[in-house]
Amino acid sequence: METTMIHSVAGLLPEGVALVRERPFRSPHHTVSTPGLIGGGTNPRPGEVSLAHNGVLFLDELPEFSRGALEALRQPMESCRVTVSRAVTSTDFPARFMLVAAMNPCPCGYLTHPSRSCNCTAAQVQRYLARISGPLLDRMDMHLEVSPVESKHLGPGSEPGESSGDIRKRVAAAREIQAGRYRDVKGVYCNSGMPPSLLRKHCAISPDAVKLLEAAASRFGFSARAYCRALRVSRTIADLEGSDGVSSAHVAEAVQYRAMERDYWV
Ligand SMILES: [Zn+2]
Repeated sequence: METTMIHSVAGLLPEGVALVRERPFRSPHHTVSTPGLIGGGTNPRPGEVSLAHNGVLFLDELPEFSRGALEALRQPMESCRVTVSRAVTSTDFPARFMLVAAMNPCPCGYLTHPSRSCNCTAAQVQRYLARISGPLLDRMDMHLEVSPVESKHLGPGSEPGESSGDIRKRVAAAREIQAGRYRDVKGVYCNSGMPPSLLRKHCAISPDAVKLLEAAASRFGFSARAYCRALRVSRTIADLEGSDGVSSAHVAEAVQYRAMERDYWV
């Protein structure tokens, strides 16, 4: 209903459609303005963060977005709402989205390539990566480096990987567990929304796992926010395995997903 209302206000509800029944997927171009991304205008309109409410906001070529637009993402990422203020009115739009972003490791794209060489200078790489501020990165749960697919994995004789359909089933099962866990918590549907007050209850970890998490936190300079986020991710990894408890292995995996802090910001 909320998603439908937002799309209706934005005039994006197709004719004859009374209810949005699929999670939205929004992928604005990197030239999008800050009001276009966050919301605004003389007659306040919802931005992409609200159009992606209950769905996915995908930002390709993340460092190419304007610094202002990227920094403006921080508030909705934290509060899951956006307040658009005008001279006389202010309007509140819901904005609970899953942010997925992609970027190259350097301007030419080959910094981490196994065989091609990068022709960027260290200063160029530094400037490029610095477009993603620490506070924005801090609010992202997982940073993964993906290597190029080798041609031997593409041929007809290659082993097929796990199908997206099978992965979907695992994700749906994990979300089901989470829907049950937060049945009585208003507005929370999955681990990423787990309030800090419930961390102790749902992310109880062994003294060994605590030690591991604290060591990673001090070594990579995790903020309190990043620390809590890593805990929530470890809960999700456990859910994907159908495990009731959160083990040291789950915590170790979660920590490993904060690769940007690990590799670039130390
Ligand atoms: Zn390069």
